[in-house]
Amino acid sequence: MDELLKQLTLKYAVKNAIEHQGKAELKAVISKLMAIDKNLAKNLSVEIKEITEIVEKVNSMDKKELEEKFNSFDSFDELPERKHKEEMQLDWADKEKVVTRYAPNPNGPIHLGNARALLNSHEYARKYNGKFILRFDDTDPKVKKPMANPEIVFKKDFDWLGVKVDEMYFASDRMEVYYAFMKKIISMGKAYVCFCEKEKWKELIDQNKGCSCREKDAKEQAKEFDKMLSHEIKEGTAVLRIKTDLNSKDPSLRDWWAAKIVDNPEHPRVKDKYHVWPSYNFASAIDDHELRVTLIIRGQEHAQNAEKQKFLYDYFKWIYPHTFHTGRIKLKEMVLSTSKIKEGIEQGMYKGWDDPRLGTLQALRRRGFSAKTIKEIIKEIGVKSSDVTIDFNRIIDLNKSFIDSKSDRYYFIEEPIRLEVNFIPEMEIEKPLHPDYPDQVRVYGLKAGTQSFLISKKDVKKLEIGKIARLKHALNFRVIRKDEMQIFGEFTGIQKLENKPLINWILSETNAEIIMDDSTKKHGIIDKEILEEETGNTVQLESFGYCRIDEINKKSITLWFTHKWKTSNYPSKIPLKSFFHTF
Ligand SMILES: [Zn+2]
Repeated sequence: MDELLKQLTLKYAVKNAIEHQGKAELKAVISKLMAIDKNLAKNLSVEIKEITEIVEKVNSMDKKELEEKFNSFDSFDELPERKHKEEMQLDWADKEKVVTRYAPNPNGPIHLGNARALLNSHEYARKYNGKFILRFDDTDPKVKKPMANPEIVFKKDFDWLGVKVDEMYFASDRMEVYYAFMKKIISMGKAYVCFCEKEKWKELIDQNKGCSCREKDAKEQAKEFDKMLSHEIKEGTAVLRIKTDLNSKDPSLRDWWAAKIVDNPEHPRVKDKYHVWPSYNFASAIDDHELRVTLIIRGQEHAQNAEKQKFLYDYFKWIYPHTFHTGRIKLKEMVLSTSKIKEGIEQGMYKGWDDPRLGTLQALRRRGFSAKTIKEIIKEIGVKSSDVTIDFNRIIDLNKSFIDSKSDRYYFIEEPIRLEVNFIPEMEIEKPLHPDYPDQVRVYGLKAGTQSFLISKKDVKKLEIGKIARLKHALNFRVIRKDEMQIFGEFTGIQKLENKPLINWILSETNAEIIMDDSTKKHGIIDKEILEEETGNTVQLESFGYCRIDEINKKSITLWFTHKWKTSNYPSKIPLKSFFHTF
């Protein structure tokens, strides 16, 4: 958060507190700030934490303190004009074609964390009429073994997000290309086959010294490399290294490895065809050049890799692509690490890549999050280089704004109990499908006589014998008798009454199972009409939350909990002006 925004937040929090008995309202402060700073809506997920902290601090001030603070401010009439940080402008785009790439290691599917590099890379290609390349970086058959047929798994996520791939490559299909460049750089005297034990080599390197392998001439190096290729040399005994500056300040930049031997690769795509595997840095550097990539947007963790790769670009006299490194995305509510997720699945902690606790796109989709929400939140974060902690409430609010109008309302009861109401005349009762559309209702015809309803056991304590209660949107009844199993009442009218207990009800039910966000299950009943919905639809379960219908059977339904009913953090109407024109 910059100083000016800090000052403005404090100023308006104090003003709002003075106007509202000493307590500033967060929503009001944010609305005010957004009116001044048009870009705040985009960055809200980044700034919200500090804004909240400042408002809380103001709310802890006593009256005297508040007044002193208030009087210390200059006029409120003249607002400082806030300078807007522009989106990353590509001032070179008129001279060079914008070619971006997304180069995931396909050892796991896309999660919210890597969606940032994906969506930004795609968006910049589209925005500048360029090209978007998908390149599977599947050259680590051992430590980060790629999945089989990642293109099928990734395509689902891409289709969902509206990402269109112009060209697709697998690094493992390009091994001969890498070998050719390895031979070339060896012949230039810029690479060597190192037989040293890693620890000993590291000791030398830390003292800015090279090992004796480095000294052999290019011809000898070529011979040794051929032995690597023919698998005469086995795993762990030799690596190919690029000669770099031994005096680099960062020791990890010194003579980085470009290829290693894997004895039994069992690669899902190329099987055991190759035993020499390029490092990420080597393959990626070669391909970015060969595929004519001009703009790389990727995570900050790759900033050092760019430095390594630049040695190759210098040797080959190539121009390194324009590069932007974005910070990490943190979200405490979800796991956003492929290796942690993979480990968890293997240990049986997670049920699969779409376990509801995970931040994978598969999981978010299955839970009922809208693709628009994912795109919007990534857009809000932008292409900053600092790490960003996403506020999950912001995701919920965004998602709600996208799914709410399309989801009908039902009622879910975990512990139902029967209520029998006597003396009901023949009549129709109705339930509204959505609070914003009062004319859309579900109508139930009741026959004259006794009618049985299902209500929640939790509501039973609201009912007092002899007193009147109201079945929401329907009718009033007087409670006659209560026992463990059942409630008895008699009809007293239909007119809406004030100050009477309001009871939600179900007339005919279906069994329901809800998979919660912590992967626990809830069982209960829901209005039977939900069976007419389609799999994949989102519904609202009153005072419970939003759910996505995962499976419908004849007599039961399985739903995945999307998120809670409402959050209170944000102004209800946040402008959703979008920089992603592909929405
Ligand atoms: Zn060596």
